[in-house]
Amino acid sequence: MIKQFLLSFLILPSCIAIGQELKVATNFESGSARVLSLDQQTQTIRITPAGDPKRGIPNWWYVRIDGINTTIPLVLEVEVREDLIPDELTGQGKKTSPGWTWPAQAALSLDGKTWKQTAEGQKINNRMVYQVQPATGTLWLAWGPPFTPTDALNFVNRISQTYSFAKAFILGRSLEGRQVPALQIAEGSKPADQRPAIWISARHHAWECGGSWVGTGLAEWLVSDNQQARWLRQHAEIFVVPLLDVDHVATGDGGKHGEPQDHNLDWSDQPHWPEVAAAQKRILALANEGRMNIFLDLHNPAPGNKQQTAYVIEKAYMPEKADPRKLRFVDLMIEEFGGLKQNPARPPAENPALFHRVSVPWVLEHSNSNTIAFCIETPWNTPSGTPEGYGIVGQKLGSAVEKLLREEAEKQP
Ligand SMILES: [Zn+2]
Repeated sequence: MIKQFLLSFLILPSCIAIGQELKVATNFESGSARVLSLDQQTQTIRITPAGDPKRGIPNWWYVRIDGINTTIPLVLEVEVREDLIPDELTGQGKKTSPGWTWPAQAALSLDGKTWKQTAEGQKINNRMVYQVQPATGTLWLAWGPPFTPTDALNFVNRISQTYSFAKAFILGRSLEGRQVPALQIAEGSKPADQRPAIWISARHHAWECGGSWVGTGLAEWLVSDNQQARWLRQHAEIFVVPLLDVDHVATGDGGKHGEPQDHNLDWSDQPHWPEVAAAQKRILALANEGRMNIFLDLHNPAPGNKQQTAYVIEKAYMPEKADPRKLRFVDLMIEEFGGLKQNPARPPAENPALFHRVSVPWVLEHSNSNTIAFCIETPWNTPSGTPEGYGIVGQKLGSAVEKLLREEAEKQP
């Protein structure tokens, strides 16, 4: 009896260890990490992003961790990849600075759906170290709050099923056969051909998950009871593409600087990516109807940029009658955000042709004489780089759009 007791005592600890084995999983949509080491005792996991550099800057990481011992902290160490990525301006390879891979605070979820931020990570040698006091045996950690192609599909379906004036549609299929979901919003009896068209597009760059949250925040505001939102959907037709580059997001790749060129640089008359071609086709049709009014392309900026940012195309590259509208929209954004970092945009001296392959200039060159278009960058490396924080940015952009269209409508005889 005593012998048996001793035997079970000796065996028991290893049984518990097997039951609680710490594991890292990435075999899900947008998952990405290479595990470099895993220390069961100290509950320390070291990873690096697993993206294929041919499919964009390998800075995105997203893991699920199972078998966590909740009595001690979980430590996640993130190492930067050393791969060179193409520099389109010079045609050479370049290294990215570690900041692109190291958010000050990582995204943390206890259910794989709702996201908050960890405490600030600490830079130790060549690693960023995030420490979590786990409350559950499983949790998810990521570069930022993930937003996947499935999230995009669920989002457009939920909105269209809830609001009769919103319609979900599939913009097209990607090169790898995935659907690109989108929303079309217009309320009331005003004929479509009398409505200015607003095109909101997010995630030309796969890793920039904030763009999707800003876009969905704008759409949520647009269907709400807000008076401005109601006016806008009753007078305009709004298209929202919450996630354009579905393929690279699905596989956990960075997208930006991908081969043969990323989605943002694919806006030529022979695009490589079918979803870019599908967006162009729709925008050209709206332009042919004379109502392509505003195009907003939603991105995240470089890690050091903590200000709401807009690329403002210089007057020489704006359509004939669009520059005063552009300046007014900038003022309205300043009013909404309390400030705005403005990056003047013109063809770069090193490679002027590149400018005309970027989404915003392409839209301006192929639309109407009053069309305005902006690349909007929302900072991610701040405590507001959360679904809620991004959502507020979306609401403010929606409000600026409404104010511009409404004051223009009120000036008309
Ligand atoms: Zn971008």
